[in-house]
Amino acid sequence: MASLKIAVIGAGPAGLTLARLLQTNQMPCTVYECEKDRHARSQGGCLDLHEGAAQQALRECGLFEQFLAVARTEGEVLKIYEPDGTILLDEGSNYGERRPDSFKGRPEVDRRQLRDMLIDSLYPGSLKWNHKLKAVKTDPTGRTAKYDLHFETHVETGFDLVVGADGAWSKVRQLITDTRPFFSGITGIDAKLSDIDNVDPALSKRVGLGMCLTLGSNTTVLSQRNGDGCVRSYGFMRLPEDWHRTCGIDWSSPATAKEQFIRMYYDGFNDDAKNLILKADDDIVPRPMYMLPVGHRWAHRQGLSLIGDAAHLMTPFAGVGVNVAMEDALDLALKLKQWKQEVWDKADHSTITTSTLMEPVRKYEEDMFVRAEAYAKETMMYLDLFFHERGGRPMCEHFAKAKEEERKVAPVQDAQAAQAPREEVLVQ
Ligand SMILES: Cc1cc2nc3c(=O)[nH]c(=O)nc-3n(C[C@H](O)[C@H](O)[C@H](O)COP(=O)(O)OP(=O)(O)OC[C@H]3O[C@@H](n4cnc5c(N)ncnc54)[C@H](O)[C@@H]3O)c2cc1C
Repeated sequence: MASLKIAVIGAGPAGLTLARLLQTNQMPCTVYECEKDRHARSQGGCLDLHEGAAQQALRECGLFEQFLAVARTEGEVLKIYEPDGTILLDEGSNYGERRPDSFKGRPEVDRRQLRDMLIDSLYPGSLKWNHKLKAVKTDPTGRTAKYDLHFETHVETGFDLVVGADGAWSKVRQLITDTRPFFSGITGIDAKLSDIDNVDPALSKRVGLGMCLTLGSNTTVLSQRNGDGCVRSYGFMRLPEDWHRTCGIDWSSPATAKEQFIRMYYDGFNDDAKNLILKADDDIVPRPMYMLPVGHRWAHRQGLSLIGDAAHLMTPFAGVGVNVAMEDALDLALKLKQWKQEVWDKADHSTITTSTLMEPVRKYEEDMFVRAEAYAKETMMYLDLFFHERGGRPMCEHFAKAKEEERKVAPVQDAQAAQAPREEVLVQ
């Protein structure tokens, strides 16, 4: 292997984080993204980046200070309402039980800001826009273990490692496994209410600074304030996969579609909850939610791997998707860095085979499968709490129970800490 040619497919949080980490460790790579440019589409709602791996990934990327400058710690708070407006939880005013401590240290960041920060950190020219991957194929001569990337207009050849960070409908995954995402049982609409402070100040106050959930019986309005002054709301519920085609709502006319949607499904919800959708901009879209099986795995395939949603697509109900995606990128990058230091930098490159490069990749996959399975189970648990016949109460009961567990554990930890020999004593 005279040189090392790495492709990352997809410029989402996973692919960009991986590319940045590889490049800062002198492992050149190219990112191929299907969108025309960074402005091609709105990137969707904001994301909370957890204190653990996602923030650690940004530290390793050398972007943590930039992240802190745009992160909104005030956006961490949660409110839960019942459909009639009864408030069950308000972390902003300490009404009701707060969430367990594991939810602390998760500031919100707008997707666009996170993406721009990562894009701007890459080597000039190493992100190729307008490159929609159609297929990954093995070397047609059969003489090398390399891969070719087939795009709509041309083919790029000779890759030693292709990492699919191309999201839910990954093309790279098609070469690795026959498993495809399936419908999660949850569908509904995605709506954005711009400039809410001016459009409806009282509604803005009701949402608060972070997340505001209105949880009815298996029917919800899930709203989240974004940094650009809009509130994004998802009107999600348990319905069949083809609901948006069979429900009779005319999606080509958003103004009437919103009214039909609210009339059909939100009987018993107060005006505030309804207005989060009725007053939204006229570009609502149906959004069925898909997932890969919990515990999704594949047999390792030399020269290929997957990170982020491409590897373990989950519904967003535990709020972990982007965090797991960035953890994948961090983990794979650190393992490749170690391989580079211990193998690549120390030997004559022509003596190194592609199979040695696969050792860190295989190890990443083994660790990721375990990690992703745990997150996927947590996500399923939260899906059932969001969409419950008893509305928001089971979620509040779950938080209260978890807080109680924390309180039981805390005195034990405090006692252990008090008994532990202090460091300065040991030094003497
Ligand atoms: C409604 C909703 C709300 C969510 N809320 C949260 C949340 O609050 N917190 C959280 O942690 N997660 C949330 N998630 C999940 C989160 O968005 C994903 O887990 C995360 O974006 C995964 O990052 P990724 O880089 O793996 O994939 P993506 O973000 O999907 O990026 C994939 C990239 O690959 C590109 N691409 C796709 N196909 C090709 C191709 N053929 N060729 C070239 N490029 C291609 C795409 O254009 C895209 O840029 C939410 C998801 C949804 C749908």
